[in-house]
Amino acid sequence: MAQPFLNSIGGQWVPAASGRTFFNHNPANGEVIGEFPASGPEDVAAAVAAAEKARRAWRLTPAPKRAEIVYRAGEIVRERKEELARAMTREMGKILIETRGDVQEGIDMAYLAAGEGRRLYGVTTPSEMPNKWAMSVRVPVGIVGVITPWNFPFAIPSWKLMPALVAGNTAVFKPAGDTPEMARHFTKIFEAAGLPPGVLNLVFGSGSQVGTPIVAHPRVGALSFTGSTEVGLAINEVAGRLGKRVTLEMGGKNAIIVMDDADLALATEAVVWSAFGTTGQRCTACSRVLVHARVHDELAQRVAARAKTLRLGDGLDPATEMGPLVNASQVATVEKYVAIGRNEGALLAGGGRAGGAALERGHFYQPTVFADVKADARVAVEEIFGPVLAMVKVADLEEAVEVNNASEYGLSSSIFTRDVNRAFAAMRDLDTGIVYVNHGTTGAETHLPFGGTRGTGNGHREAGHTMLDPFTEWKSIYVDFSGHLQRAQIDNN
Ligand code: NAD
Repeated sequence: MAQPFLNSIGGQWVPAASGRTFFNHNPANGEVIGEFPASGPEDVAAAVAAAEKARRAWRLTPAPKRAEIVYRAGEIVRERKEELARAMTREMGKILIETRGDVQEGIDMAYLAAGEGRRLYGVTTPSEMPNKWAMSVRVPVGIVGVITPWNFPFAIPSWKLMPALVAGNTAVFKPAGDTPEMARHFTKIFEAAGLPPGVLNLVFGSGSQVGTPIVAHPRVGALSFTGSTEVGLAINEVAGRLGKRVTLEMGGKNAIIVMDDADLALATEAVVWSAFGTTGQRCTACSRVLVHARVHDELAQRVAARAKTLRLGDGLDPATEMGPLVNASQVATVEKYVAIGRNEGALLAGGGRAGGAALERGHFYQPTVFADVKADARVAVEEIFGPVLAMVKVADLEEAVEVNNASEYGLSSSIFTRDVNRAFAAMRDLDTGIVYVNHGTTGAETHLPFGGTRGTGNGHREAGHTMLDPFTEWKSIYVDFSGHLQRAQIDNN
């Protein structure tokens, strides 16, 4: 019997109005994790009504008090870190050290966001009139709709919901269908931390039945989405027509540039972990390497040799280095691209599903390396979101930067070089939201802004000192204490 779970609406744990449910599974072995409500528009309407009701009191709760609840949630996550990491590995497959990192981001974000409760700084400025005071303050947007993917099921909701709540918003949260259990833990932790009923409402279900109604609901003022570019742009279209504020974090095709003066042993390790960590399913995963022609063949051989030794298995086993893909549809996507890649480059490692008795019930795929791929080949251009790496030869840094910037995406990039001039030129010229020097494309820290340019994002940044921007508006306030009507000012605008 699968454990049945419920939506959280207005502080009550309730089934979908329709009574319908769906199951989610452990991608390493197919075991059922739980049975969740397959909600619909009527459940979203109830969640928005609860968020609206709670909003009035929450908005007026002093920000430091709101922040204390977020801090307390962070403390609970810290105490339960190992249990949450294990639950995450079971639910979406990445290995324990990675799920511990995901939970740790939730802790870091809680402490960082809680600090904003005592800042939430506004601006005061001299008025152009005598006896008049002028200032701008941050105010909450109102109700925010938060739609998240499955690959960082604790960290991404933390980046979004923690600052949104500290800022005084209430929320309707729809997690991905592959990771409902982590969203349930997240919501329960906030409940235990003392969040008033209705401030955070959790609705499980599909993109079309729950996501679309959240996006279209007239009372939801701001949307924060992380997921694929296709879905993000569709949300943007609807939200644009309705005049809503939207934060989009979407797809990626992140490159590591390796120059001919690089430390190749270091670059090899960085490429392998950026490409095959989380089974290539990180938004910041490296899926193409732009290598100086002089070292291309040597680096390709080293990366392929290391890829072949990676131990695949259940992420709960401490010996496992790479877990399964999240579901059968991701396996099908990887298979499609590997078939394409066979005509686009030299297959040096992988290229098939991983076999063996321990793996046959899970969605395992071998770490796959294609070398000598043309920069405009499909496996070097399109997001695959799996353990497939394309290595591309470039003549110099200028060509590498050009190839990197020709991508439709712009999340993360990296350069390996010992030449400080090349490093600084790359930092300046790589058109991505994040740039690493002598480090892989992954490993963002919560106190720096996170997000991408071009097809990856729409200009907002999450976390860091920019964390409140998607969830607050500026209100300018003028106080006239002259005691008489200052006509010149009224005539201004
Ligand atoms: P996805 O776009 O399929 O789904 C993301 C979320 O949107 C899910 O909750 C899904 O149910 C919901 N959704 C689907 N259709 C919808 C619709 N029409 N309206 C509203 N909501 C809808 O993405 P995914 O498969 O969960 O995640 C993988 C993708 O996420 C990859 O493309 C990856 O690059 C991207 N990603 C980006 C970042 C980043 O920060 N840029 C971080 C993590 C993941």
